[in-house]
This record gives sequence, structure tokens and C-alpha cells, in this order.
Amino acid sequence: MEEELRALLRDLDALKQRPDPAAIDRDMSAEVVDSNPYSRLMALQRMGIVDNYERIRDYSVAIVGIGGVGSVAAEMLTRCGIGRLLLYDYDTVGMTKTDAAVQTLSGINPDVALESYSLNITTVKGFETFLGSLKARSSDGHNTGVDLVLSCVDNYEARMVVNQACNELGQTWMESGVSEDAVSGHIQLLVPGETACFACAPPLVVASGVDERTLKREGVCAASLPTTMGVVAGLLVQNALKYLLKFGQVSPYLGYNSLKDYFPTMEMKPNPQCSNPACVQRQKEYMQLKPARDAAAKAKMEAEASAADEYSLPEGLVRELPNADSYQEPVAPVTSGAIDDDDLEELQRQLDALNSS
Ligand SMILES: [Zn+2]
Repeated sequence: MEEELRALLRDLDALKQRPDPAAIDRDMSAEVVDSNPYSRLMALQRMGIVDNYERIRDYSVAIVGIGGVGSVAAEMLTRCGIGRLLLYDYDTVGMTKTDAAVQTLSGINPDVALESYSLNITTVKGFETFLGSLKARSSDGHNTGVDLVLSCVDNYEARMVVNQACNELGQTWMESGVSEDAVSGHIQLLVPGETACFACAPPLVVASGVDERTLKREGVCAASLPTTMGVVAGLLVQNALKYLLKFGQVSPYLGYNSLKDYFPTMEMKPNPQCSNPACVQRQKEYMQLKPARDAAAKAKMEAEASAADEYSLPEGLVRELPNADSYQEPVAPVTSGAIDDDDLEELQRQLDALNSS
């Protein structure tokens, strides 16, 4: 048990700093010249948004479904200089969709390592290949060789398959979807054991009016808007970048209702009675690691506090900050309040004396 915990902690540590062997064959220079596509991205670093933008070259992202959302997401990540992209789809457009995507993307940015997987993940063989490709290149005791999986599929069954694979591997993933009427969509962050998995809660019907079950029904011709798909792809990749490069905050769930320009967010806890055994297993592991996580968080807070102490005032000086949070009532002279009987009698006597004079 203790050994297991230590191993998991090691995994967590290594996860935080895993170099990809395929990464960095060309420097990401911040030099602003026409031939440098990265100068404007590197400016994110100069402006203090991202600590180290170049780390993007270390990351591998898998995109499942190269349709309206997936192809746009793949192009965005390619332009951002992601290290490695794994593309999955079973469709063909003359050639396989994934090969066509690789051709286009390598023209946009030849620095990205692209892998094409033309397969149907909902078949037994497809699922095995899918799992195998995610696991390939895993190192340092990691279950997978990718940092993030993006689900851009358009049906419930395929989402459940991505959910199954990621629960089995303990792989963090992001889900995306556009509603059947093409006017709303959502993205969702799924961390096995920590957040609700796709099987934990029945597909959501949220304030945005997105019902995943109706995303693509048999025999129904779903509407499609490139704009809605573009917005959802943008939200998805924005959150993928925030997750990978550790800036800002990644919403557990972000909806998009285009009719009202409404973006609801929410959080979803995992269901201990989830029908997916791998999810329940990940939940147990997450709970087992809670004391270690709490201790690490406490140590980090203390380290930050002691770092703050280094900036303390010279000895003898006291820091006095005005307390702007609370309004201080000015001290007013007491004009009212309890007047005891003796005072009243005295007042009465004075009045009587005045009247009688
Ligand atoms: Zn679950």
C-alpha cells in the first residue's frame, strides 16, 4: 500500500516534467522576423501569460474525430507548434481523412510530428489499436505517451469508448460537442477519479440546452454551422493550451449557447456508483492519495509563505497596511442611549427651575 502510494507519487512527479523524445529539433526563437512563425506565440512569455511557451514542443495530443471540430482543433494546435499530434478517424475523403489531415497540417507547420490512425475506435480491433497507440512511447512508468486526449466525435457511443480508454489508462481528456440544432455546444475536462467521467452522470441537459443524447440521432440529419464548430474548437484548444502550459484556469465544464451568447460553467464530482468499473477504481486511487496531496499542498503553501518572508521589512520596521476592506465608523459622541432615572430627575428639576423663573 505504502509502496503503491510512493509509486503513484513518483508517477505524478514525472508527469509534471516529462520530456518527449520527439520534441525540439528546432528552436522556438522569440526573434520577430517573417521567417519565424513563433515570435508572436513567444510574446505570450514576454508578457507574463505563460512561463515557458517552448514547452509546447514537449507535448503530445491525441485528437479523436477529424470532423468539423477536430480538424479545426488540429490546425490550431499545429499553428501553436504542438510537439506531436495523433489523429484518429475512420472516414475517407478520397484518401483517409487522417492522411488528408496529415498532408494539410504538415504543410502548415512541418515541425509537428503527425501520426495518422484510420480506424473505428468503436470496433474491438479499433479499440485495441487506439489503446496501443496511446500507450506507445509511454515512459517513466506512465500509462500513456500522450499528455491529453481531445474527443471531437459526434456520437454518444464513440464518447463512451474514449471514456473507457481514458478511464483504463488514467488519461486526462477533454470532451467537446455541438448540439443537433448547431446553435449550442460545450467542452468538458475529464480527469479519471477526480472529476465525473462520461458514464458517471447521464448525458447532460444543462442551462445551455445541450443534450448530448441528441447530438447525432439515427436517421436525423443534424444541422451544422461552421461558426459554432469553430467557437467550440477554439474553446477546446484554448483550454488544452491552458491545461498543458499551466496558465489561467481550466473550466471543468463550459457550455456555449450562441442564441443568447451565454457561457455556463459548472463542476461535476465523480459518481461512486458509476457503472464504469475503471472509473470507480480511479476514484479509489484518487481518494487514497488525498493525504499525500494535502501534505504537498500544505508544503507548497508554507514554501510560498517563507518565500514571501524574504521580502519582509528591515528589523525594527512594522508593516502597517490600511484596512480598506472594512469601513471604520467614525467615533461619534454619545448623544443618545440609556439615560438612567437619576439623569431624568435632574433634567426635570432644571426644566422646572427654568419655568418657575
Ligand atoms: Zn464514472
